[in-house]
Amino acid sequence: MATVETRALRKRFDGVAAVDGIDLPVREGEFLVLLGPSGCGKTTLLRMIAGLETPSSGDVLIDGRVVTPLPPRERNMAMVFQSYALYPHLTVADNIAFPLKAHGMRGAEAAERVQRAAAMFSIERLLKRKPRQLSGGERQRVALARAVVREPVVFLLDEPLSNLDAQLRSAARDELQQFQRRLGTTTIYVTHDQIEAMGLGDRIAVLDHGRIHHLGTPREIYADPADTFVATFIGSPPMNLVETDDIITGFRPEQFMPIEALPADEPVRRFTLDVGRVEYLGADRLVYGTLAPPLPPSRVIARLPAGPELPVSTGERHEFAVRERDLRHFDRASGRRVN
Ligand code: ATP
Repeated sequence: MATVETRALRKRFDGVAAVDGIDLPVREGEFLVLLGPSGCGKTTLLRMIAGLETPSSGDVLIDGRVVTPLPPRERNMAMVFQSYALYPHLTVADNIAFPLKAHGMRGAEAAERVQRAAAMFSIERLLKRKPRQLSGGERQRVALARAVVREPVVFLLDEPLSNLDAQLRSAARDELQQFQRRLGTTTIYVTHDQIEAMGLGDRIAVLDHGRIHHLGTPREIYADPADTFVATFIGSPPMNLVETDDIITGFRPEQFMPIEALPADEPVRRFTLDVGRVEYLGADRLVYGTLAPPLPPSRVIARLPAGPELPVSTGERHEFAVRERDLRHFDRASGRRVN
C-alpha cells in the first residue's frame, strides 16, 4: 500500500494543456476514480503517474518521495489498459508470468506467484489457453491477474471494463471492488462512466479540460457539486439549473415535486411548471417541463414515483416545489457554488 500524489502536474501537447496543473492526493488503500468527458485528460494524467508520459512540469510522488524522473518499472505500479494488451501468442500462464520474467524472476517462485494470481481471479482452468480462446470477461481477469502478479503497491486502471457487455460489466465491477478491498492496494481508476465511478470510488476526481473541478466522495459530488459543470455532469438526468438574477439555482430532479407531495410545515421554493412530456420508466416517471413566468422559461425535469399518486399530465400547469434545504446556488459568472 502506498500514497500517491501529483503536484502542479502539467502536460502540454503542441502548446495545448491536456493536463493543466493537477494537485491530486491519493490516500493509502484508497479506490480513487478519475471521471470526466472524453478528452479531459484522464488517460494522460494516469500515464504520467505510471511514468509512461513525461510531464511538462510538476511532480509525481509515491509515499512522499518524488518519482518523476523514474522509469515505469521502478515505480512498483501495475497498469491495466482498456485493451488488456495480452500477448496473443503466449498462453494465459505465460501472459501472467510476463512481468515476473521481465524482472528476472523464473522457476518455482514465479510459477507459484502465477498460481496465486490465477486463483485470485478464478482462472486456474484457463492457464493453458491462448487469449483468442477466451471471452472478453476472461481476458479482463487475465489482465488483472497479470497486473497483480508482481504485488504492486499501486494499481492504475484505464477503463478496464469498457469492452464488456452490460451484465458482465456489473459482475466484473463487483469482483474488482471485492478484490481491491481484500488486497487494500491503492487504486486509481479512469472512466467516463459516472455509474461506474459512483459505484466504485471511495472518492471521485471530476475532471474537465485538464483540471480537477471537484474531488470528493460520490455522495459529496452528487449532493454538493463544486460548480455547474459537476452539477450537470453527475446525475442522470442532470441537476436542474435555473437562472434567477445573477445566481443560478440548482436542484436534483428527485427533489422537484408537485407542491402537494411536500409537508406543509417545511420551507419550500415554489415554481410554476408547464408540463410537457411525461415519460414512464417503470419505477419512476420523468416529467419534462418549462418554468412559467415570471421566471425565464428554463427547461427542467422532475423524477416522480410511477404510482397513481401525484397525477401529472402533459399540457397542464402545475405548482411544483423544492425544499429550501435542497437548493444549491452557483455564481453565474464563474459557475462556482456559493453555498
Ligand atoms: P478519453 O476518455 O477519450 O480516452 P481522456 O480524458 O483520457 O479521453 P486524454 O487521452 O488524456 O483524454 O487526452 C487529453 C487531450 O490531450 C486530448 O485533447 C487529446 O487529443 C490530447 N492528447 C493526448 N495524447 C496526445 C498526444 N500524444 N499528442 C497530442 N495530443 C494528445
